Amino acid sequence: MGNLLDFPASNPQNSDSRPIIPLEEVYPDSVNYAPSDEIAPESVNIHPQEAEYDLKEISIKRGQGMMDVLVNSGAGRQDAYNAIKALSAHYDMKKLQVGQALQAAYNPDGSLAELTMQKSFDHMIRVSRSETGFEATIEDLPSLKLTRHVQGVIDDSLFLSAYQEGLPNSVIVNMIRIFSFDVDFQREIRKGDSFEILYERKMSEDGRRVEEGNILFAKLILRGKPISLYRYQPQKGHFADYFHENGKSAKKALMRTPIEGARLSSYYGKRKHPVLGYTRMHKGLDFSAPTGTPIMAAGDGIVERASRYGAYGNYVRIRHNGTYKTAYAHLSKYGRGIKSGKRVKQGQIIGYVGATGRVTGRHLHYEVFVNGKQVNPLRLKIPTGITLAGKDKQKFLTLAGDINNQITAKKKNILLTWNQKIALNDTGGGGEMLVMPSP
Ligand SMILES: [Zn+2]
Repeated sequence: MGNLLDFPASNPQNSDSRPIIPLEEVYPDSVNYAPSDEIAPESVNIHPQEAEYDLKEISIKRGQGMMDVLVNSGAGRQDAYNAIKALSAHYDMKKLQVGQALQAAYNPDGSLAELTMQKSFDHMIRVSRSETGFEATIEDLPSLKLTRHVQGVIDDSLFLSAYQEGLPNSVIVNMIRIFSFDVDFQREIRKGDSFEILYERKMSEDGRRVEEGNILFAKLILRGKPISLYRYQPQKGHFADYFHENGKSAKKALMRTPIEGARLSSYYGKRKHPVLGYTRMHKGLDFSAPTGTPIMAAGDGIVERASRYGAYGNYVRIRHNGTYKTAYAHLSKYGRGIKSGKRVKQGQIIGYVGATGRVTGRHLHYEVFVNGKQVNPLRLKIPTGITLAGKDKQKFLTLAGDINNQITAKKKNILLTWNQKIALNDTGGGGEMLVMPSP
């Protein structure tokens, strides 16, 4: 972990309306970094050196293709065609999106000299005029890998509190996802509970672009009881996963609730059917949630059915193993690529809440099958995932120790800087900040 640096707890999405807390108040040891309002998304400025080029910043607008954009900016049709042909060797033009930024450089005679476009966070495509037409090359965009530490007390919901502490949505969603095997977010979160997280962030060398990375560590303290998760990649062919301090994986065979932020509106058991009027068994749980709320696969498995199914409306059933299946009914639509035979991962979005089939209102009807029969999901004894042992366990414990040290150092660093600041103020130091070196 060579170039791990602290990163200011600033908000990279300059489009949202969160109040901007002065950087030095949030993270006093990092004042050298670009303040959040200078971070501009999605545009790289790497130009040809020659001054006689006429440079144009262009972007794809709705209803336009690359050809239109280039020709509009002044390129000849043949040049535009050849440049796009060269570009498409490195970029799937079907993925081109509205808003994609490009830089076109024109020769003094008005002909297209060069075209540059960002391919990914770390790569740029440069299309240059050559003897034979145009040639495309991929260039690395240098970036720094940072880790960012954020903590906070939960007031209303984890989502809201984390958001207020400056965590980007994508990171919050991931945090909720990795805890969803241990925590029922609907019922177990109380005011005064707290969270803590250490995650990776990539930052371009000029500090103008950021990309959020993996969560390395996350902790929830629920009514005084801590749950800590560490990211670790087991040695044998597994994906990286999250583990408790004792080496037990956070992943269970099935998630406790396949949906976030929903209210349990009907339990398993005998009830008067809301549409048909007579008493019958309700063989699942109903979750009330707005139409379009994503529904997750409760566990890894294979989609057995993803189609209309009588009173169930749009219906997905997943076979997890020889024992367990789960089913999701009344969906408004299916998740991307979800169809019979498709392999899904735990937490993957398989559909969205709706009101298809025989229903009185939008909700998710969720069933768990054990050996072919529906059971009460709330009574289910959920089998646990893997437990690290031997060398894996040792490596994991070392890694967890490193992460703990890193966090302790970050906290101490902040505290030291604060004390320095107070001392300076006390002696009339003009309020100037003293920045402690990172450990
Ligand atoms: Zn139901």
